[in-house]
Amino acid sequence: MSEAAHGHDEMDECVAALTQVHAFLHGEMPDADADAIRHHLHACERCMENFEIEATINEMIKRAHRAVHPPETLVSRVMSLRIKRT
Ligand SMILES: [Zn+2]
Repeated sequence: MSEAAHGHDEMDECVAALTQVHAFLHGEMPDADADAIRHHLHACERCMENFEIEATINEMIKRAHRAVHPPETLVSRVMSLRIKRT
């Protein structure tokens, strides 16, 4: 049986969009693919919500990484290693 209902096509698009959410948010996909996802988000509220949640988490992680500084002990250890090697 190869009956393709319209609902199934929509589901496939949602699954495809959601599996690529990270690549999309990190800008790791071709423009054509990103455009296709953008089009889907405008047409699909559910995916738009999911992407907004992912984008918020993504932004929080980025900020957290920026706020993290290497501990002083690590910095001095690296410095002393360099001095020993030269
Ligand atoms: Zn969708």
